[in-house]
Amino acid sequence: MASGALTPPQTAYDIPSDVSTKGISEALQKAALSSSVQPALADVGTAPPTPPLNSGCDTPIAELDASLLQCTYTTAPRTVPAKGSPEQASLKVCTDHMILATWRRAIGWSAPSLQPYGPLNLMPTASCLHYATECFEGMKLYRGFDGKLRLFRPELNCNRMLMSSTRIALPGFDPAELLRLIVKLCVTDGPKWLPKDQKGSFLYIRPTMIASDPALGVQAPNEALLFIILTCMPSLDDVKGGLNLLASRDDMCRAWPGGFGYAKVGANYGPSLLAQGEARRRGFHQVLWLFGEDCAVTEAGASNFFVVWRTREGQLQLVTASLDERIVLDGITRRSILELARERLASSLKSEGLEPLEVVERKFTMMELEDAAADGRLVEAFGTGTAWFVAAVSKIQFRGKEISVPMGKTGEMGEYARVLKSWVKEIMWGCEGNTEHEWGYVVEESAFTKDRPRRSYDKEWDAYLGLDDWPFR
Ligand code: PLP
Repeated sequence: MASGALTPPQTAYDIPSDVSTKGISEALQKAALSSSVQPALADVGTAPPTPPLNSGCDTPIAELDASLLQCTYTTAPRTVPAKGSPEQASLKVCTDHMILATWRRAIGWSAPSLQPYGPLNLMPTASCLHYATECFEGMKLYRGFDGKLRLFRPELNCNRMLMSSTRIALPGFDPAELLRLIVKLCVTDGPKWLPKDQKGSFLYIRPTMIASDPALGVQAPNEALLFIILTCMPSLDDVKGGLNLLASRDDMCRAWPGGFGYAKVGANYGPSLLAQGEARRRGFHQVLWLFGEDCAVTEAGASNFFVVWRTREGQLQLVTASLDERIVLDGITRRSILELARERLASSLKSEGLEPLEVVERKFTMMELEDAAADGRLVEAFGTGTAWFVAAVSKIQFRGKEISVPMGKTGEMGEYARVLKSWVKEIMWGCEGNTEHEWGYVVEESAFTKDRPRRSYDKEWDAYLGLDDWPFR
């Protein structure tokens, strides 16, 4: 870098593209939250102090505060679609309620409200409609096999939402407050929409933030709206015969260094739909997104992508693209698969007859994948994400040639993908032996059926939500 350059390079260590503590500390710096939140965050100690938003003015800027929630319950309850029905698959059916909170630069966050599900009120000049000032999260509420409602590592989604919002000049917030709001909506609508006898079912949770600022100028928005909705969604992970992927063309990429591929912002998705539409028309399920002249493999559709292969030296490896270049989303499922593989597959798994794996996060290319397939060293491939969960990949088409990916003994899914998927599933759905797993966040249905008294800080509610030991408070 020449001296005097405006943007110094970032070392891999500085890159805030992961959803753990290191990643969100920078997001919080950007967010310039008021001082009552910031110093309590782990890992922020080494970062320079950020002046509070309200410095220099008399009126304090309000932070997002779930304990101020005002509830108006529906008087026109909606019908729950039958399992497997076209309505359920339409992805248009939402539950009875939604949560909203507005933000204005001068005053901060308003008291959030829980209200009947319905249209939003937006001016045609709203910033999000013109400048893609929008970000979102994707998570699920699970009806466990033990009868309990659960979220899966939801604090990581809330951290990622903060990273996304601050990447596109939307306001920051305390991720713990967002989680409180998500839990309240789940407590309100979960019991009816995921009845206790439908074990193994789920609802999709979509927290979203948009710039609602009605000023058409190209500028950081002065108004924003946070909303949380719950939708019905069918299971997508059981693709018969496995996923058939079309590698992206040389003239199209999803994300690039210096961009925002690591953030869950709408601007990453709209432009990818042309390629996805073309892939679907040609009989493929998803696009396998490549990047750069050396065709680095990044993600499959809106999922992270994994391969199991044997190196030329004979080492069995589970490989996925690293987060270093910030072109890959730090998927919660990806993170969980990596952690479980490191913990449980470092030595052989005798019960399943599986040999140990080395877990590798690094840049890898389509040519390496082609070579592994040609040499018979490619063992399996799969995509991971909240929507598709863990889905086996059976074919990849790259520059007109088809690569066949082995699909395990049964022909349905490779053995490593199957075992890893079952481990995650057991935690998500509270299966026997996993009901107390720390990644499973139980949503108690009975405790919050009526409105809580509104206090600025509700310790009882914190304890109920399990947030008294929240790592970032
Ligand atoms: N990659 C992209 C681009 C995504 O949109 C998603 C889905 O959110 C994922 C990966 C998987 O992330 P997660 O496992 O958190 O759902």
